[in-house]
Amino acid sequence: MQVPPFSLGEQLGQLGDALDSAVLAVLHSGQYIGGSVVQGFEQAFAGACAVPHAIGCNSGTDALILALRALGIGPGDEVITASFSFFATAEAISAVGATPVFVDVNASSYLIDLDAIEALITPATRALLPVHLFGRPVDMERITAIAAAHGLLVIEDCAQAAGAHWAGRPVGSWGDAGCFSFFPTKNLGGAGDGGAVICHDPALAQRVRELAVHGMPRRYLHTSLGYNSRLDALQAAVLATKLPHLNGWLDRRRAIAARYQAALADLPGLHLADGGPDGHSWNQFVVRIAACPQGAAACAGSCCPAADSANHGLPESCCRDWFQQQLQASGVLTIIYYPIPIHRQPAYASLGYAPGSLPVTERLCAEVLSLPIFPELSQLQQDTVIAAVRQLAPRMAAASIAA
Ligand SMILES: *Cc1c(COP(=O)(O)O)cnc(C)c1O
Repeated sequence: MQVPPFSLGEQLGQLGDALDSAVLAVLHSGQYIGGSVVQGFEQAFAGACAVPHAIGCNSGTDALILALRALGIGPGDEVITASFSFFATAEAISAVGATPVFVDVNASSYLIDLDAIEALITPATRALLPVHLFGRPVDMERITAIAAAHGLLVIEDCAQAAGAHWAGRPVGSWGDAGCFSFFPTKNLGGAGDGGAVICHDPALAQRVRELAVHGMPRRYLHTSLGYNSRLDALQAAVLATKLPHLNGWLDRRRAIAARYQAALADLPGLHLADGGPDGHSWNQFVVRIAACPQGAAACAGSCCPAADSANHGLPESCCRDWFQQQLQASGVLTIIYYPIPIHRQPAYASLGYAPGSLPVTERLCAEVLSLPIFPELSQLQQDTVIAAVRQLAPRMAAASIAA
């Protein structure tokens, strides 16, 4: 049995005629940009996030750029964020001319290390940009307290966490702005690219809206240099049809995660994150495969056949990589989010972060592996994943101990 890392087509069956008719209605309406379908989705999404305003845009990356720009963040400003994230988190900060300042992550939540933020605040710091990575909500009470104490803005990267909540309040509704992606593999995925900014402040919402359409508050009057970044009506139709199912899908993700937690907790050589808060939306289920204690250079096991000396100065990942290959051989396909931390990407060489500067982030990048998790993952597929991992884990531990 093959178990894919995600399976996007399967949701369509559940949506049936509702999706077909919503999409066809847009096609036949001739209203492809803007219009009532986009507005309807924006209102529904704002409601689901418990905020008054949601503005659709082209992608999660654009949502971050638009929010940063609309909040006045630009050249000379520093924004504190996590390096253990998708590249776009930092790329958006750089795109508006500001500088990302990277904090390490907590070794058990994999989220921004709340205790390490304040040491990085300088007179140039304008904002905190926490990432609800893998769908797990950051402690937004702590983030907002730190921001308030230092007069900083808060922009939430909610790309992986649609529907997640912290202390009963939806992610994205805590900060000055929340930024979402509707990339197909996210919790709420379109049939292509899409994103949204949510906020409480009507003036901010208006600035985001104008920036998304060429800085144009009314037709052919341009008051700022903006972007062309809109949510297509076809995508809005898909998303509006899916939105009422989001919470049910998140329940499925939570149930699968609980099952994995229970079935894999006792394995040597395999490390699981703690279960996290109730509001975790489990966009990913991440396990860690600890590297051989003696290191790749000394390992004679099958996991590290030839030590890779050109590992960009990062911790060795051969044990994790071997584990992934073995899983693949038994039909379980996995993805590594993310093999290289943002601060060690060639594109950010100019920021000068040396190897070892964010040790937890760097170790996680060498050890993490995301097991298949999506709402439609069948009982049989879950069994296959659990059996494959359970069968491999003792071999891992044996390889570690033998050397
Ligand atoms: C997916 C993602 C983004 C970017 O979203 P796109 O819609 O692909 O542009 C930003 N941040 C994180 C954490 C993401 O996972």
